[in-house]
Amino acid sequence: MSNTGGSYASPRADVAEARTAKVLRRKLQWLIAIVVACTGVLATEIIAASYSDFVIARRNLTEVMAFCRVLDAANYLSAERGPSNGMLGIGVAPGSPVKARLAEFRARSDASLAQLVADIDNASRAEPADALSPILVEVQRRLALARVEVDRIAALPPEERNLAEIQAAIEAMFGVIDALRPAIDWNIQRLTNTDPNLAGIALAAQMLANLREDGGRLGSQIMAPVAVGKPLEAQNLADSERTRGRLQEVWSIVGKPGALPGLSPADIGDLAKIDREFFGEGLAMIDGIIAVGRNSGAYPMTAEQLTDRFVPKMKPLEDLRRSFMDATVERLSANKTRASIKLAVATLATFALFLVLLVLMRRARSLVFEPLLLARHSIIELANDRPISRLQGKGGEGEMGRLFDAIDVLRQRLDERTLLMQHLERQAETDELTGLLNRRALELIGSAEHKNGGDQQVCLILMDIDHFKQINDTHGHLVGDIVLKETARIIRNSVRNSDLVARFGGEEFAVITPGDNIESALALAERIRFNLAREPIVVSEGRALTVTASFGVAEGRSANGGWTRLIARADTELYRAKSEGRNRVCVQQASASLAHLTSAKSARA
Ligand code: GH3
Ligand code: MG
Ligand code: MG
Repeated sequence: MSNTGGSYASPRADVAEARTAKVLRRKLQWLIAIVVACTGVLATEIIAASYSDFVIARRNLTEVMAFCRVLDAANYLSAERGPSNGMLGIGVAPGSPVKARLAEFRARSDASLAQLVADIDNASRAEPADALSPILVEVQRRLALARVEVDRIAALPPEERNLAEIQAAIEAMFGVIDALRPAIDWNIQRLTNTDPNLAGIALAAQMLANLREDGGRLGSQIMAPVAVGKPLEAQNLADSERTRGRLQEVWSIVGKPGALPGLSPADIGDLAKIDREFFGEGLAMIDGIIAVGRNSGAYPMTAEQLTDRFVPKMKPLEDLRRSFMDATVERLSANKTRASIKLAVATLATFALFLVLLVLMRRARSLVFEPLLLARHSIIELANDRPISRLQGKGGEGEMGRLFDAIDVLRQRLDERTLLMQHLERQAETDELTGLLNRRALELIGSAEHKNGGDQQVCLILMDIDHFKQINDTHGHLVGDIVLKETARIIRNSVRNSDLVARFGGEEFAVITPGDNIESALALAERIRFNLAREPIVVSEGRALTVTASFGVAEGRSANGGWTRLIARADTELYRAKSEGRNRVCVQQASASLAHLTSAKSARA
């Protein structure tokens, strides 16, 4: 098939196609980059949010636990007042465990304070807690002084102990808690600043701690007169009254179910216990002492006994504070665990997402984009009549596979069409009877030479079988056909490969000898004439015919309409050969020397 789409398949088109493919690839790369970037931004946002949640949860837990330890320390310092008061009173039973308990409670207070000092430098705190340093120094200073005072009085014989000194020692112990209050306030402030959600928890915890502290104070405020067996003074009564008022006020706020955030229903049961044991039995005990103390110093129990009986009544208060703080810590640590799981899941999911995205992109590239480019290239190649390799199976099972199968079908159809076209073209150029080129082909070649721009010297031999009509008439058309075929064979055997032989008309033939001079064309014509005349043509078994032909030879250039003139001249010479007696070669008269040669040869014939 001739390449009629030559301009489409030009190198310039190839370059353009390569450029298009490159542009498409770059677009795909950009698309991938944008998708990856967007995913990256989203993933970063999600991970950052999860991480921030985790950091907040961890910080909340750390801060609340530090606050718990401050409240614990306050509780231990309050509790230390119990055995301290016991020691201050006269009439401590010999072998009483109060001394040992005091030592034990003091050790507990010291340990909790040491823990607070250590907490200042706690590396897991979000911000430094240096502000607590001077507060704790002051607490420890007051505690040391109060203890010295307690120990001094406890060492005195009962008759030398006086009310004022005992009262002072008890108040010195109150002063320790008062010194610690700024630390509690600082922690509440810190919690509120850290997370406003923690403010409610902090305040509730503080109220519960105050409840325990004031509960203890209520006993301690009347302890000095009891310790020395003296009536209560107005100051004791006033202090006690004030403390009781505060207790009731705080209890009216936190003592209701639902007032404490996040407290479990089991712990809410403690509220009733506090009502019964502290506000019922405990306050009744204090009321009993006050009733006696208003009139005389004849108390029904010693300071040690009062402490022993009153302290257990405060236990439910302490239990409530502890379970509230435990519940809070538990909740916050569950929050932290949840946040860390969320963070891990978000991070893993992001990695998985990137992995899937990458695999997807690569698959899209190898399964969709590259096959599409190949399909596009293949179709262009087919359109340009260029061969392509088989695509079947290259696109896998899916849509791409079907696309490639379709391109294969197209390729097969185009191949078939090419073969058919080649066959038709051959048929159009070939004379059916003799197998030589037909006149149309000869004309095409003549004009093609013209088209190629070459101004080549060409010789044309036209030959016509002599008296062929008689052969037809005498022996029939079939014999005539045999003669035509045999004549064609003899001509073919007489010429060179570079010469073109065509059937020019019914019993006329033409030979083109490109690049030849007229002498050699003449010689060739003579050779054909001689071979034809010499070799009888066998037309049927035992029957042969001797056939002659007349020849006209002309020389010329095919360019610029030369082809038509060349035919006309050769035809003129052929006509001359006929008219001069047939079975001869006539050559263009332009060449004088040849005219002589021709006549000599013709004479021989
Ligand atoms: P001349 O020597 O002057 O050329 O005489 P001629 O008889 O050869 O010339 P004419 O032109 O009178 O006759 C040519 C004949 O060739 C007439 C035609 O029937 C016959 N012919 C043309 N094509 C074919 C063909 O394909 N087969 C056969 N059998 N005959 C053909
Ligand atoms: Mg003829
Ligand atoms: Mg003839």
